[in-house]
Amino acid sequence: MTDPSPAQQLLASPPPDSDVLVRAPGRANLIGEYTDVNEGWVLPVALELATVVAGRAGGGLLRLRSLDLPDEGTVEIDLATGRGPSSGWGRYATAVVEVLRDQGRALRGIDGVLASDVPLGAGLSSSAALEVAVALAVLDEPVDPLALAQLCQRAENEGVGVQSGLMDQLASTGSQAGAALLLDCRELTTEHVPLPPGLGVLVVDSAVSRDLSSSAYNERRQQCEQAAADLGVGSLRDATLDALEDRWSSMDEVVRRRARHVLTENARVLDMARALRSGDAAPLGALLAASHESLARDFEVSTPELDQLVEAALATPGVVGSRMTGAGFGGCTVSLVEVDRAQEVREEVLRRYAQASGRAPRGWVSTAADGASVV
Ligand code: ADP
Ligand code: MG
Repeated sequence: MTDPSPAQQLLASPPPDSDVLVRAPGRANLIGEYTDVNEGWVLPVALELATVVAGRAGGGLLRLRSLDLPDEGTVEIDLATGRGPSSGWGRYATAVVEVLRDQGRALRGIDGVLASDVPLGAGLSSSAALEVAVALAVLDEPVDPLALAQLCQRAENEGVGVQSGLMDQLASTGSQAGAALLLDCRELTTEHVPLPPGLGVLVVDSAVSRDLSSSAYNERRQQCEQAAADLGVGSLRDATLDALEDRWSSMDEVVRRRARHVLTENARVLDMARALRSGDAAPLGALLAASHESLARDFEVSTPELDQLVEAALATPGVVGSRMTGAGFGGCTVSLVEVDRAQEVREEVLRRYAQASGRAPRGWVSTAADGASVV
């Protein structure tokens, strides 16, 4: 057994004078990549890795210290004016308070600490976990998971300036243990689809930084808009593979492959949800493989390292399926693994990938966890 992390310690034994204790998990997306920006479907799971805030309620200030970034000192936000830091990690807290104030929500002051098991900047959405944890800590009224996720998304979009969909925040607020969260990104409806009891999630960071990702991300979005226009629909959500086939020869060679990825990926998300709903694990591996292939060939957002990492996983006994997850150009893969030997599998995948790539990967094992809560 490894020692409990600072976040686990905080959760298990918060400072004696604290009367507020909240946790908000990070997430991994099982399938449905670049579908959210096309009003399609995604299927994330909340991870056991979570951000914890413990503190004492009272007064008109949100005062927090992050045990993960001690050099940044104590962040202080005035709840009456919304004034707080506009740089460093504190800008996330300022942004959350700003949105809550704008909505006229009842807030309480907090003096406390936070710590997280979600690795910062690795693509497991430590930012959403932070926003949700801060919001739950300062909120002095109940807010349902969808509304909570939306206000945290707004904080990230407007306050931090990162354009992201709702998936990260909603996976953190709205998940249930043992299930993935099927999210319809147009209707904003969700369904909990159970994972087979014997399966868990392995996330491995390829240790390739995602430098190219923002310009390439914008280019992909633009190509999807072009494809939707070519197909005469407002968004690729409404296009069909038959329509794409009809227009195939008149479309740009790159744009039509981008569209094919989105259309087939949406179908794979729904296929996976259907398989999970009926307790059928048989198609899962092939669906993950097809998603990776489509992201690599049609959407061209994989890298040689992500391909190597998927190969390393697929060569390891106990792995059911594997693919890149997130926007690509580096970042992580997600695999479904047998939970009984998940740690062993993790070590073997890390070893194989390190050997193949010469890089130093990190990996995390988790079951599908519960969404955020006030403890
Ligand atoms: P990701 O969401 O993929 O982890 P982001 O770049 O979106 O990566 O968010 C990471 C940033 O969020 C960090 O640089 C930091 O500013 C902030 N953050 C997240 N978790 C914490 C934490 N536990 N303590 C302090 N800051 C955090
Ligand atoms: Mg983030």
